[in-house]
Amino acid sequence: MIEVANQPPPLEPYNLFTGDVVLREAVEREGAGWAAAALTALGARFGSPETVALGYAANRNPPVLRSFDRYGHRLDEVEFHPAWHALLTIACEAGLHSSPWAHPRKGAHVARAAGTYMLTQIESGVYCPIAMTYGAVPTLRQAPALADEWLPRICTPRYDARFVPARQKQGVLIGMGMTENQGGSDLRTNATRAEPDGNGAYRLYGHKWFMSAPMCDAFLVLARSATGLSCFLMPRFRPDGSRNALRINRLKDKLGNRSNASSEVEFEGAHAELVGEEGRGIPTIIEMGNYTRLDCCIGSAGLMRQAVAQAVHHARHRVAFQRKLVDQPLMENVLADLALECEAATVLALRLARAYDEDDAAAQALRRVLTPAAKFWICKRAPCLIVEAMEVLGGAGYIEDCILPRLYREAPVNSIWEGSGNVMCLDVLRAIARTPAARETLRAEIECGDARVSASAARLFARLDASEHGEEAQARILVRELVQTLQAALLMRHAPTPVADAFCAARLGEGGNGGVFGLLPRGLSLRALIERAVPTA
Ligand SMILES: Cc1cc2nc3c(=O)[nH]c(=O)nc-3n(C[C@H](O)[C@H](O)[C@H](O)COP(=O)(O)OP(=O)(O)OC[C@H]3O[C@@H](n4cnc5c(N)ncnc54)[C@H](O)[C@@H]3O)c2cc1C
Repeated sequence: MIEVANQPPPLEPYNLFTGDVVLREAVEREGAGWAAAALTALGARFGSPETVALGYAANRNPPVLRSFDRYGHRLDEVEFHPAWHALLTIACEAGLHSSPWAHPRKGAHVARAAGTYMLTQIESGVYCPIAMTYGAVPTLRQAPALADEWLPRICTPRYDARFVPARQKQGVLIGMGMTENQGGSDLRTNATRAEPDGNGAYRLYGHKWFMSAPMCDAFLVLARSATGLSCFLMPRFRPDGSRNALRINRLKDKLGNRSNASSEVEFEGAHAELVGEEGRGIPTIIEMGNYTRLDCCIGSAGLMRQAVAQAVHHARHRVAFQRKLVDQPLMENVLADLALECEAATVLALRLARAYDEDDAAAQALRRVLTPAAKFWICKRAPCLIVEAMEVLGGAGYIEDCILPRLYREAPVNSIWEGSGNVMCLDVLRAIARTPAARETLRAEIECGDARVSASAARLFARLDASEHGEEAQARILVRELVQTLQAALLMRHAPTPVADAFCAARLGEGGNGGVFGLLPRGLSLRALIERAVPTA
């Protein structure tokens, strides 16, 4: 019998909220301290071995398309493993799909962000319909009659998996269809047609090349009507209760996000109703995009947190060369650097979430500039961080019994969908040019009295003031500088000194770390950074 030795104990059960000091502090600071008890209960639920097992099961048993029944009738249904439904039940019971709309109050978006930050650590596929439903509400409100009909069933803590017309259900979820075969970033190429049906609604003809979570109860869809691209709500069932003419042609065979279905669909005269002003479909649906982009930031920060928690936990137990890994000086540098990046991503994502809780001019300007900027940077950093965290576990990190391969496969999608990296950076240029309050808002947000941050801010504003500030080819450099300066300011204000010092030393200025972790310079309190990242029970 082989003796099992020098292996870490399982991390779970642990509490993803109380065991995460950075998250707890951010929730309190950003105005959602009132949610601590509910988040504590949710953190315990997510960190239980039973919930963790659901995440593995949902990914080992991906969804299956059922195109026809045994007699040849069209079904266009997707069958999911029970674990998928169990996870969606937990997420909906916690209100992660709608709580800020169902119970608006100061800090509601922050509280929800903290819940989804934990959800994504256990299972990210489920996050997709949760994020889309959350984001759909402001767009749906642009059609008051539809909002009256759909919002009561969105704003309930119930997940109802049945494939029946929405009015028979206790809870509904909303998806989104924008991307077509010929173009996803450039939505002006959308060719799906919308023709009036003579009764005030429309029939849609065309396709979508990506439409995720196709078992949602309705979808916000872009289609071209007589006056141009318009936004429509397309339910899975027609008002008479028959199945809508929405054909699921196939499910994508994806790198990651495997518990979730992403489909190619065709509309054969599908019933749909107009949302917002006809001909203004892109601005109407982009309202949803702001929220789902915020969710990409939160989701990627959550993936990073799970990777760091696993890495730090492993290194605190595994011994090599007579010392625990965490006590090996070079590993200490790697772990501290990973924890640093994760903390910077988390404080930024939660700060951005607060801007969605506020409505003054500064909050609006911050939302407009920071949402695409943070989406670009946090989503780009996640895959790099996760691959390094994987290596902390050595060979075990590469094996599917461990969550790191799943996190690694999941991470790139947040950067690709809802506006890929370049598209986000170009949007930041546009936002800065068109938002008069942008510069002053950023200045106020960055000002923290620290000389290193001020120097970085001076470089940033010099770049913004330069005549070539709108140069597209340099947009990634500008956005990186903007985000890292802001992260430094946030850490300077809110994190312990060793964390803020390390960030300034390692991330600001030309000496940025080039994307590899473990290059922190001498003279920093590495252990203090790691101690903050330890996941505790
Ligand atoms: C798992 C998954 C799920 C998805 N789910 C959905 C969904 O539910 N609904 C939906 O509508 N879509 C969905 N998408 C599609 C996704 O939103 C698009 O793939 C994305 O918007 C990019 O569009 P595209 O694939 O057509 O790439 P393209 O638009 O062809 O872009 C390709 C690359 O070119 C870059 N690029 C584009 N324009 C410029 C420019 N002007 N300058 C420089 N670079 C540029 C982009 O940043 C990108 O890197 C999903 C995608 C994935 C992978």
